[in-house]
Amino acid sequence: MKARITVLGAGFAGLELSTILSESLGQDVEVTLIDQSDAFVFGYSKLDVMFGRTTLDAVRLPYRHFAKPGVRLLRETVQAIDPATRRVTTDAGTHDADYLVVALGADYHIAATPGLADANEFYSVAGALRLREVLPTFSKGRALVGVCGAPYKCPPAPSECALMLHDMLLTRGVREQCEITFVLPLPSPVPPSPETSKALMAAFAERGITFMPNRRVTAVDAGRRVASLDDGSELPYDLFLGVPKHRAPAVVVASGLTEDGWVTVNPRTLETKFENVYAVGDLANTGTPKAGVFAEGEARAVATTLISRIRGESDLGLYDGKGTCYIEFGAGRIGRVDVDFFSGPKPTGTYHEPDVALREDKVRFGASRSARWFGL
Ligand SMILES: Cc1cc2nc3c(=O)[nH]c(=O)nc-3n(C[C@H](O)[C@H](O)[C@H](O)COP(=O)(O)OP(=O)(O)OC[C@H]3O[C@@H](n4cnc5c(N)ncnc54)[C@H](O)[C@@H]3O)c2cc1C
Repeated sequence: MKARITVLGAGFAGLELSTILSESLGQDVEVTLIDQSDAFVFGYSKLDVMFGRTTLDAVRLPYRHFAKPGVRLLRETVQAIDPATRRVTTDAGTHDADYLVVALGADYHIAATPGLADANEFYSVAGALRLREVLPTFSKGRALVGVCGAPYKCPPAPSECALMLHDMLLTRGVREQCEITFVLPLPSPVPPSPETSKALMAAFAERGITFMPNRRVTAVDAGRRVASLDDGSELPYDLFLGVPKHRAPAVVVASGLTEDGWVTVNPRTLETKFENVYAVGDLANTGTPKAGVFAEGEARAVATTLISRIRGESDLGLYDGKGTCYIEFGAGRIGRVDVDFFSGPKPTGTYHEPDVALREDKVRFGASRSARWFGL
């Protein structure tokens, strides 16, 4: 009997995990990978779509191109997960597994911020597409990049949004008629790397972007065009660019896998409290950021463990908590930070100055995944 592995979610974590399992075990294993969408889109592509640098068609990676020996990719919506029996119910039927890996990512909790549904957010594909139409019409007034809660995906992304907005307004010759304010519920833009944070704050200051750390947007009144903050103050705006509060998908919460909103795991092995059930990526509470590079690292660790167990060996994959993030600083320059969460007593980040040459690295990062997962 071949081992059956069910992987829920074909995002950064699910794609990488299924790819490694296929490379190592091929037809010796039955991997069922389930996702409700028909295509994968890199998180950072949403910024490029929103600022009109590319089109959605150019950055969509259709799942029909994901073809790996030993892996069946099914387009189904997960409706219930029973971690005790490792049975998953979808809109198309049930799936039973010897090993279950939950990688359904983080959902956006729009309703948690009253009024946000009537304003703009840029974290979903739909939101980025809407802003792509709105941004060219903004030529005067106050823009507010507002984060509605932490943790949120990709800590530097809202900083990138503020800097890219500055560039766009400058190119259009309207920057002087516009103000940009950035509200963030963190003490600094990239807390594990003081150097990166310092460089980003210097970039905001040079560009006249007002940075408000340790503040969260709690409500938006699109009619009055006012955002409320968690200190009771209000900020008027003409253009709102929001990051919604995040939460684990409702189906995961209902499964009993979560505590305090996210899935409890051993941060090094990604094991949940249920036997042979793992959680990886944005929904797993490992203490590391919610970003694709960390989701991949977690997937690699679980892959090592599963391959070893299926081969009857005793290796245990351990997640190293390391990841590299590329940061858009504007004017075509990309910065880079290499973050390491587990090697020392506290997280560290090594900062690399923004450079035009680092863009090639970022392009390579995307191209390598697209080739590895989709053959594109
Ligand atoms: C603006 C922005 C910029 C970013 N920039 C970067 C960056 O530069 N570098 C970086 O590393 N990360 C970046 N990220 C973060 C990155 O996109 C996520 O952290 C990463 O995608 C998480 O991977 P995951 O596998 O956990 O979840 P996801 O990639 O979100 O995958 C989860 C999958 O589960 C599926 N799913 C959910 N619910 C169901 C269900 N009920 N049934 C079936 N399928 C379901 C979804 O369709 C999805 O495909 C960025 C994110 C944003 C929004």
